[in-house]
Amino acid sequence: MKVLVINCGSSSLKYQLIDMKNEEVLAKGLAERIGIEGARVKHEPSGKEKVLIEKPMNDHKKAIEIVLNALVDENHGAINSMDEINAVGHRVVHGGEKFSESVIIDENVLHAIEECSELAPLHNPPNIMGIKACQELMPNTPMVAVFDTAFHQTMPKSSYIYPIPYEMYEKHGVRRYGFHGTSHKYVANRAADMINKDIKDIKIVTCHLGNGASVTAIKNGESLETSMGFTPLEGLAMGTRSGDIDPAIIEFLMEKEDMTIDQVNTMLNKKSGVLGISGVSSDFRDIEDAVSEGNERAQLALDKFNIRVKKYIGAYAAIMGGIDVLVFTAGVGENSPETREEICEGLEFMGINLDKEANNIRGKETVISKKESTAKVLLIPTNEELMIARDTKTLVK
Ligand code: AMP
Repeated sequence: MKVLVINCGSSSLKYQLIDMKNEEVLAKGLAERIGIEGARVKHEPSGKEKVLIEKPMNDHKKAIEIVLNALVDENHGAINSMDEINAVGHRVVHGGEKFSESVIIDENVLHAIEECSELAPLHNPPNIMGIKACQELMPNTPMVAVFDTAFHQTMPKSSYIYPIPYEMYEKHGVRRYGFHGTSHKYVANRAADMINKDIKDIKIVTCHLGNGASVTAIKNGESLETSMGFTPLEGLAMGTRSGDIDPAIIEFLMEKEDMTIDQVNTMLNKKSGVLGISGVSSDFRDIEDAVSEGNERAQLALDKFNIRVKKYIGAYAAIMGGIDVLVFTAGVGENSPETREEICEGLEFMGINLDKEANNIRGKETVISKKESTAKVLLIPTNEELMIARDTKTLVK
């Protein structure tokens, strides 16, 4: 069975074609600048030269059409005909309280995903555009939706309820949903495999540290609490997002800086986090370079990022009554030994003993704790696409 995995953003579309027989990636790529001048697809067929396809794409349907053509192309294709694509798996950011698992997409499901758009106005609409475009181009191919929020639906009410009037939850669904669920679930399962333990018997803290970042407490194989909340703005300091702040700051700044609520929102989502503190960049590589040149605010940004991850690890160990496994994943978690070292420093009292030598590695599944470390520290590259493909295969079969 061959599964096409689609991850649609507002002006971009990531894809992977996976042969589920051996879970081999046959081709992957990225369509960028959809609906904007300079649209292009970076297409990478496995074992062949990469190609850059520059063509106008007014909408997601056109982008998917170009991707499908690339996949069957004589020179840089990966399959002979579109009929070889047995199913499509779509990443959908918000499944609200309706979806605690992946589902086959039908009219009712699509409608329910549309209803969740209110909770994720920036994310769900492009996901829906991707689904509709695929349905038009591949009307007979089964499609599955895999939700970023689904894994966190196991959180107990005391974790997901906010201490505001209960009616706000009842009337408007204001609660913690959590995101990056597919990634947290994938690395937690890999972690259990790596240390030869049943996931139900271990207490895991997973740190997904990318441009967006979140930490999850996983007990009995289930998400017990996670740092992102009603939206992906809560929790850690991120590339450009503030994470936790005192909500009173919003009104204070609106008054002092004569800002509208939209401007404050943009500031918290796009101009804060490590970018906001450092004034340098949202990219950790740039910030690390600035630190090595003696930039103090860049150092402060990293310190803030690290201390907040540390704070959540401590909090989640407390909630779970200990920690057996600490996992680092995503762009920063996988590629920055310095960040991992800073975060683990001082956590020896919790049984976390990082092996600095083993930690000097990037992007490869590795145990990076010392033998005597009672809590294992693992580096695990995430693979959300594979999770989406696996769920798609299971449901379509
Ligand atoms: P993601 O959102 O998971 O794709 O992560 C993207 C982020 O990972 C980038 O913005 C960088 O900050 C970070 N990153 C990628 N490679 C490195 C690296 N070699 N060292 C430090 N950070 C990195």
